[in-house]
Amino acid sequence: MSDRFLEAAIMGAIEAYCHGDGFQTEIETIGPIWGHRRISGDEHIIFLERLAVSLSADRQTDSVTPKAEATDLMAEVMERLAPELTLLGDFHSHPYKDRATVERIKGFEFSPGDFNAFLHDDDLWDRNPAGPVMLVVTICRLNRVHDTDGKQLRFNVWQFDLGEFRFWINVCVGYLDEQGQRQHTGNKRSNVWLDLNSRFFNQRRSRRDLGRGDGFHADPHLDGEPYGEGRSPLWTALGLRPHRGQ
Ligand SMILES: [Zn+2]
Repeated sequence: MSDRFLEAAIMGAIEAYCHGDGFQTEIETIGPIWGHRRISGDEHIIFLERLAVSLSADRQTDSVTPKAEATDLMAEVMERLAPELTLLGDFHSHPYKDRATVERIKGFEFSPGDFNAFLHDDDLWDRNPAGPVMLVVTICRLNRVHDTDGKQLRFNVWQFDLGEFRFWINVCVGYLDEQGQRQHTGNKRSNVWLDLNSRFFNQRRSRRDLGRGDGFHADPHLDGEPYGEGRSPLWTALGLRPHRGQ
């Protein structure tokens, strides 16, 4: 994920939360994502470069619906402005009154409606035969400013604070199964590794000796830690540090 992407996602979610559309506050927002994808074996490395907030979307407190024509227009404009980028998918936000609500109903997860809309978005699947990307930014106001670092709650979910707001970012990637049916990586047990730490170039689990040309090594002392489960995510969304222990 580029810094610009993260900033724009936070800005979009926080403005929609605090000021809404000028009539109601704490509403959702939505917009397309552009970036790059590189496929290496069965690993997809996806870099989220930019997003745009869709101003004409119908934005409510518990739903958001983009205008298809507006998405087409933004796609065409970006083809001229930045033809090297691919329209990878979209992001939207989940605004909640407080942390207790988010935690009680797991508000940072994608809803069944989110997955349904994602699987039926023919335009996105046409543009991304290898599978589009969906990202949700959840936001709530905290009672006080906490002194916290970002936390990776799961492979595909990060949590962090900004001032008195708490954010969660969850990401999901589509793929075609053996029958050619559209599937997605879901909320839990996701094979997506969401990387917000791409500035730290040595991962705990893998060590690379630069210049020796022999790639990544699993560190036997750290194997299984900290995320365990011995699974190697197939999709590295947002960032760059493929988790290649085994
Ligand atoms: Zn949603």
